[in-house]
Amino acid sequence: MTNGLDKVVAITGASSGIGEVTAVELASRGAAVVLGARRTDRLEALARKIRDDGGRAEVLDVDVTRRADLDRLVTLAVDRFGRLDVLVANAGVARISPVADLDVDAWDAMIDVNLRGVLHGIAAALPVFRMQGRGHFVTTVSTSGLKIVPTQAVYAGTKNAVRTLLEALRQESTDGVLRTTSISPGYVRTELVDHVEDPAQREQAQQAMAALGISPEAVARAIAFAIEQPDDVEIGDLTIRPTRQG
Ligand code: NDP
Repeated sequence: MTNGLDKVVAITGASSGIGEVTAVELASRGAAVVLGARRTDRLEALARKIRDDGGRAEVLDVDVTRRADLDRLVTLAVDRFGRLDVLVANAGVARISPVADLDVDAWDAMIDVNLRGVLHGIAAALPVFRMQGRGHFVTTVSTSGLKIVPTQAVYAGTKNAVRTLLEALRQESTDGVLRTTSISPGYVRTELVDHVEDPAQREQAQQAMAALGISPEAVARAIAFAIEQPDDVEIGDLTIRPTRQG
């Protein structure tokens, strides 16, 4: 294990996919990781694995739609490790469908998790970052916000709203205290589209994922790259997609 990355990093959506492997990647580089999601059994198993490998990890049941849960996550990082250097606001859902299906519950869920969840993270961490004089927000947005495709309107909308949010935050924070990074993955092999409701849409998305998807480790390395930069260097936007993705 390399111990070069002396950072305290909170990660939402750490129970699977990109969040999970990012936790492993950052911990292996020396970071202390504070892991939040709803499936705490998976978080506990992940933390055990990280600790067995000599890393530092804490876990918390977090539903990002609840503001207080993000406050608890940030507080845990500060209580346990003395500070919070980075919040990776990664939790997300992709309940995609054509707009005309009017799946308003899915729209609400995506807005609540993908957008409101990030806002809750900012509300919790920003005061701590300001008090410390240092902090970094990393979000996983998406290439679906860069190239709009049918069935992904609301999902892409939430991702582009987060992209806009981080850019505004960046412009409001040019005193050197805050860094913001928007990571835009393309197809990545995770559980994300297994939760699509409509069987036909789900199968189509799963097939695209299986045919094209890159490993979540590729995204984790990009997140680590952004985090490892010196304080006066900000990686604003990074796109990581399969070479064959259109
Ligand atoms: P996964 O489905 O594997 O991971 C999603 C994570 O989000 C899980 O850990 C899940 O944990 C968590 N989550 C969902 N809802 C909530 C909630 N209400 N509160 C807390 N955590 C929640 O998918 P990915 O790893 O692929 O997704 C990670 C991020 O990357 C998402 O934001 C996604 O939109 C984005 N992304 C993914 C791409 C891909 O192709 N895979 C492409 C572009 C972006 P739990 O259910 O335990 O709460």
